[in-house]
Amino acid sequence: MKIETIAIHAGNHVDESSRAVIQPIVVSTTFERAIDGSFPGGHIYSRASNPNRTLLENVLAKLEGGADAASFSSGNAAGMSVFQSLPVGTHVIATDDMYHGLRNQLKLLFADKLTFDFIDVNNPEILQSHIKPGTGLIWIETPSNPLLKVTDIKKVVAIARKHGIKVVCDNTFATPVCQQPLALGTDLVMHSATKYFGGHSDLMGGALITAKMDEWWEKIRIVQGYGGAVPSPMDCYMLARSIKTLPYRIRGHVHNAQLLAEYLEQHPKIEQVMYPGLSSHPQHAIAKEQMSGFGGMLSFTLKGGEAEARRVINGLKLFTRATSLGGVESLIEHRATVEGPDTKTPFNLLRVSVGLEHIDDLIADLEQVLA
Ligand SMILES: *Cc1c(COP(=O)(O)O)cnc(C)c1O
Repeated sequence: MKIETIAIHAGNHVDESSRAVIQPIVVSTTFERAIDGSFPGGHIYSRASNPNRTLLENVLAKLEGGADAASFSSGNAAGMSVFQSLPVGTHVIATDDMYHGLRNQLKLLFADKLTFDFIDVNNPEILQSHIKPGTGLIWIETPSNPLLKVTDIKKVVAIARKHGIKVVCDNTFATPVCQQPLALGTDLVMHSATKYFGGHSDLMGGALITAKMDEWWEKIRIVQGYGGAVPSPMDCYMLARSIKTLPYRIRGHVHNAQLLAEYLEQHPKIEQVMYPGLSSHPQHAIAKEQMSGFGGMLSFTLKGGEAEARRVINGLKLFTRATSLGGVESLIEHRATVEGPDTKTPFNLLRVSVGLEHIDDLIADLEQVLA
């Protein structure tokens, strides 16, 4: 089945007892046992599993073409479960522009359990030179946040396979509508479901999707169930509901982002636009090969430096000054000041989550502030 059909049907079913067309939200934390002690409903206790979560995980697995999915209370909880599943002492290689919240998670919570290097995973020589006997995991994120760098997934997977190293791809920016890392050979896909899956800036969630049911996945399921960073039935329901429109929302985001990127690129006050759909993007060729759409995120730098970036962000009327992404409304953010003192993000950079407003209105707003 195609992704539009999966999105609508794989996360919902007609309820057997009431014949309700839309899944009921099952708030019960516990489930009745039969006389013989079995669990005829398939659920025991809601931290371990819940009907709404099962449906959500079903649609997540199918969207990414995976064998199974596990959902979490946030993207960071999903990332945390991956790191917690690794044997103590494992060496992790992560992309140097890994999402700052996960980079800080490694540094602040795992420094005494894992060793890690943040490197340019796009450079095969650099990647090769950092692999050592204890290396167990390579973490990639493509397109990356906030520089929209594109990693050649197949190339990283080929190097990792030679050494028996697992690869996880943070697919939050692309979504399975634009990119399917499991098909390109990664072992896991990670998502912040807070972003495009939720799509309306009103819930937190995270997900892991696995290519196969192996021992590592069993370990991750243990971290999920016993660690307990699971989403509520209400959040699972809302996510499964939002996912139904994901393919169509993403098409709108991609359409608007491409036109906005092209508009900004020709503007004399703009220094550089970072969007994988532009032919000027350094990895445009790779993006074209591994993505079926270039996503809804872009960043740009201004010729007038930080002061001009601040003037522009404060003069916009339609774009809301806020962090996060993936909602129907356009957001703009001065990224360097959100990431903290160790940021490598240029201070004249603004990151845009291009929303689903009409593109003419978005361009008109930028036009008035850049004039
Ligand atoms: C937001 C985000 C995360 C973290 O997800 P939360 O839901 O905020 O915990 C991870 N990776 C990327 C690329 C993100 O944008």
